[in-house]
Amino acid sequence: MSTEIISNILLVLTWVGSFFVIALWLSLIVWTYRDIQKRTNSPTLKLICILAAAIFFIPGVLVYLILRPSETQDQEYQRTLEEEALLQSLDDFSLCPGCNRHIREDWMVCPSCHTRLKKLCPKCGKPMELAWDICPYCETPQPGMRRENRNVEETLSALAIDMDKE
Ligand SMILES: [Zn+2]
Ligand SMILES: [Zn+2]
Repeated sequence: MSTEIISNILLVLTWVGSFFVIALWLSLIVWTYRDIQKRTNSPTLKLICILAAAIFFIPGVLVYLILRPSETQDQEYQRTLEEEALLQSLDDFSLCPGCNRHIREDWMVCPSCHTRLKKLCPKCGKPMELAWDICPYCETPQPGMRRENRNVEETLSALAIDMDKE
């Protein structure tokens, strides 16, 4: 009588155990399928990973966890966006004529060497390039600054002619 009960309990336990193992096996396959779906577009790679989980069970999934692509495609996409944004913000920078450090397009003076980069229109207060002799917003002529720049340009072109002669 008692042997019968024990063998019945063992039978039930075996059933429950097998059911649990099969459920674990199936859910690992489903999990691998979902996970690889996010990480690659290659059908061959997907098939290999799912087969690894199906055939080798837990060790297969462990190997998959170690070897899987580290980024999901969403993360990869995010990273590309961030890199593009970074490159874009680098484009916003130019070089200071005084110290060759990066400066922003909208800065008025270089914070490192205090070289004046832009001037303000005395009439409308909009920022202007130093070389401009008229405000593009309110058409106010800007005497003075232009001469300074022209002098620099003349010196530079004179130097260039000198170098050509040599
Ligand atoms: Zn500077
Ligand atoms: Zn103006």
